Amino acid sequence: MISYDLVIKNGVLVTAGDIIQADLAIQGERIAAIGQDLPGKERLDARGKLVIPGAVDPHVHLQMPAGPTTSSDDWRTGTAAAAFGGVTTVIDFVEPEAGQSLLDACAARRAEAAGRAVIDYGLHMTLPAGHVPTALAEIPAVVQAGLTSFKTYTTYEGFRLDDEQLLAAMTAVAAAGGLVITHCENDTIIRRGQADLLAAGQTGPAAHPLSRPAAAEGEAIERVLALAGIAAAPVYIVHVSTARGAAALARARDRGQQAFGETCPQYLFLTDDEYKRDGFEGAKFTCQPPLRKPADQAALWQALAAGDLQVVSTDHCPFNFFRSKRSWAATTSPAFLAASPASKRACR
Ligand SMILES: [Zn+2]
Repeated sequence: MISYDLVIKNGVLVTAGDIIQADLAIQGERIAAIGQDLPGKERLDARGKLVIPGAVDPHVHLQMPAGPTTSSDDWRTGTAAAAFGGVTTVIDFVEPEAGQSLLDACAARRAEAAGRAVIDYGLHMTLPAGHVPTALAEIPAVVQAGLTSFKTYTTYEGFRLDDEQLLAAMTAVAAAGGLVITHCENDTIIRRGQADLLAAGQTGPAAHPLSRPAAAEGEAIERVLALAGIAAAPVYIVHVSTARGAAALARARDRGQQAFGETCPQYLFLTDDEYKRDGFEGAKFTCQPPLRKPADQAALWQALAAGDLQVVSTDHCPFNFFRSKRSWAATTSPAFLAASPASKRACR
């Protein structure tokens, strides 16, 4: 009888179809058998534990350039941390620089990850403003190269696409059989909110959620879904944080659109109360979109349970509090709000 490389014994296996007490045998890097009393050269006792498939985190930003800094996890530390949490695949992003072809940017990003990622990884291709429409002709070649999902933004200078650009990008991605991914926040609402708050002297972390209200996300998700419908493009909305956004997705799906959405642990477990902490402590909780109200949180849980949201990702995009977040504030005046305006590339 064959002896497998590794047998995980006595655990409760959770598969797509069953939850059963059984041994799991691994040969090489693949599951070779599920059964009772399987022989293994190496044996691991999982008594009292669940044995689950590796998780896929489809939204991370490892060593991502952001203004004067980069996100603080690189391909090595970020994927090692993922592995310790049971995540066996991450999907990160390619962000082409001005004038750089999509394929060249892809090759450069792959070179950064090569030999450093300790788990499987994939890449989404970003379509920045300067590349639309000029680089859209490259999309079929990018799909051919294995990147089938294309990230678009409705905010951040340099990334933000207007409606005409969004429609053009969506049409090109759909024609190539790809998936449109969109960060949805209304840039005008955010810039107006920031200007008003700055004028009122509200410049600390507590102003962050006020400057990016739920309506900014709601409007952008509703608009992007309408545009995707016109372009007949499948669309995936990242980091949905509001009841209004989740409801818009449910309506689009009811209309028959191929529309999908993710939310993230920060929106499921934290609220905007965190921004009211003393001093600059609230800055530790800045993310975009910001943390929301308890009612939004409840709606997100309900949307996941109902299947109106399909994915929980992390949007893992870490910045060191002392080296990055504080220094941004220190070098920018007035303090915090101006350090994360709609026009700057920050945690996203
Ligand atoms: Zn992100």
